[in-house]
Amino acid sequence: MERKFSSYKTYLDERGQCYPSMGEMIGFYKDLIDIWDESLPDDLLPLFSIERFAIGSSLLDNKRIKEIEFKNAIDTAGKVLRLIEKYKREESVSFAGKSVKEIDEFIKVGLFSEERFRNAILKWTLKPSFSYTIGKFSVDTTSWKKGRCPLCEAPPGMAIVDAIHGEKSEQRHLSCCFCNYRWLFDRVACPACANNRPERFGFFAGGSGCEQGARAISCEECKTYIKTVFIRYRDDGKVAADLDMDIEDVVTIPLDIIANQHGYKALCLCQ
Ligand SMILES: [Zn+2]
Ligand SMILES: [Zn+2]
Repeated sequence: MERKFSSYKTYLDERGQCYPSMGEMIGFYKDLIDIWDESLPDDLLPLFSIERFAIGSSLLDNKRIKEIEFKNAIDTAGKVLRLIEKYKREESVSFAGKSVKEIDEFIKVGLFSEERFRNAILKWTLKPSFSYTIGKFSVDTTSWKKGRCPLCEAPPGMAIVDAIHGEKSEQRHLSCCFCNYRWLFDRVACPACANNRPERFGFFAGGSGCEQGARAISCEECKTYIKTVFIRYRDDGKVAADLDMDIEDVVTIPLDIIANQHGYKALCLCQ
């Protein structure tokens, strides 16, 4: 289900209107979207090992990273770095004048690291490649019960709750904060500590009327939260398949601010 990222630009604008202070952030992401749409992807499928998955490990096999030719991603990285320069984001400092070889090294070392999900530049660089690769991914991951991504083992960045097709009950998918893959997860349990006592969860809502079903669900046991989009509360008619969870993450930043102010940490940053 590959789609042009540019279809999200109007959506970003619409949601951004609720939060004028996010203007520059929205502008930055719209520029990123242009880069993603003009970038060719690299096929990352060879990174994933069914054999690893069969024994309960995530699919990404670190040993295969050196075999991948990140030809297109290197090109994308150059554009991302120039964009960061334009917005004068501080991460740009260490990248001034990097060669192709150094950028290739940056991608490979970054992807190898268990902390890969903390590397925003790497994530933005690989977004077209992961989107392309996941689009043709056919491994059934429903047996995966962990609160970490079955592909790359990063924590979830967000969750989506929607109705199970043809049923009244609902299901929850977590979305990876690094590769954006979605996987089915327990409807209630905390992905970080497995707490599943309903009375030990709370939630934060933005209160602006612009949330489109988004809440920050907090866990009282481990003091984390996960921003969750409840499809049934949306009034724009969008369903789970219409959403890009990296974009949702941006348009729900006000929820992060509220949750952080109350002392809770996002799953993607704290594990
Ligand atoms: Zn992932
Ligand atoms: Zn917890």
